[in-house]
Amino acid sequence: MDHQVKFVVEASEAESITQKLGLPSVRHLLPVLVEPAQSLARPPISNYHVGAVGLGSDGRLFLGVNLEFPGLPLNHSVHAEQFLLTNLAVHHCPGLLAFAVSAAPCGHCRQFLQELRNPCSLQIHITSQHQNNHFEPLREILPNPFGPFDLLDDETPLLLERHNNGLSLLNRDGGDPCNGFDSNPQSKRSGNFLTTNGFCKYAETERSTLLKIAALEAANNSHAPYSGCPSGVAIMDCDGKIYKGSYVESAAYNPSLGPVQAALVAFVAGGGGGYQRIVAAALVEKETANVRQEDTARLSLMLISPQCDFTVFHCCSFDENGCKND
Ligand SMILES: [Zn+2]
Repeated sequence: MDHQVKFVVEASEAESITQKLGLPSVRHLLPVLVEPAQSLARPPISNYHVGAVGLGSDGRLFLGVNLEFPGLPLNHSVHAEQFLLTNLAVHHCPGLLAFAVSAAPCGHCRQFLQELRNPCSLQIHITSQHQNNHFEPLREILPNPFGPFDLLDDETPLLLERHNNGLSLLNRDGGDPCNGFDSNPQSKRSGNFLTTNGFCKYAETERSTLLKIAALEAANNSHAPYSGCPSGVAIMDCDGKIYKGSYVESAAYNPSLGPVQAALVAFVAGGGGGYQRIVAAALVEKETANVRQEDTARLSLMLISPQCDFTVFHCCSFDENGCKND
């Protein structure tokens, strides 16, 4: 494969590569791209590179890889299948039809995939086990599943479906955009891309506002139907580019994906480069949430990108009558 490896391949390009390789369908292309996908994994602890390539319902291809973070507990790792689904979510793809993956999905990921609508029909090809173009449905490798269908009504949006959690920011300090608090005592210094001239304060305020708005958007897209505690993170790189990540819950709780991990998926998939390029981050969550991300997010970011400024903003939700719920 000499194709440039990208985390998202447009439908027309996928068709074109398929034709060039003389394959009968785009689905046949998925296993072919798994090995190039593996080369993008970041597993400094295990050195075990996992790659996944999925076919979205809109014809685009999405890659997933595993991410590991030295210094953090292993449950902060992102599995390739989680990366894959988050990559679809970041790019607003409404469904996953099939994917190929380098190794059999672990139990954790089989469970995580249950957050999709009609997960049983999802077609999976395991390149280390399957020959040719053999795909099998998820129900073959996860019989008798437990999932959202056990806990939620049919109306509740599932992963990749449109969410609006009705969250608004609490505005305690008279409209100052920086209405959160800053956990990093060094944060008042100039950021990597800020100068010390008179524009510094403006730039910092602007940065904070941009991150806050992006994190609120991510929180409003968060899939947290089990705890009712949605959250979102936005991170900014040293070029000022913003990446958003929405917290995703699993019906089985433990396979849930934190908002920092989701934002890191967006960062990696968006070509963000090394983690040291992350200079600022914001979290939006409910102040009184039973499931809070703040301390975990701070710890993660401190270890992943020590110079990153981290700010927390609190929000509350309003029902359709405009009444505050929490
Ligand atoms: Zn897994």
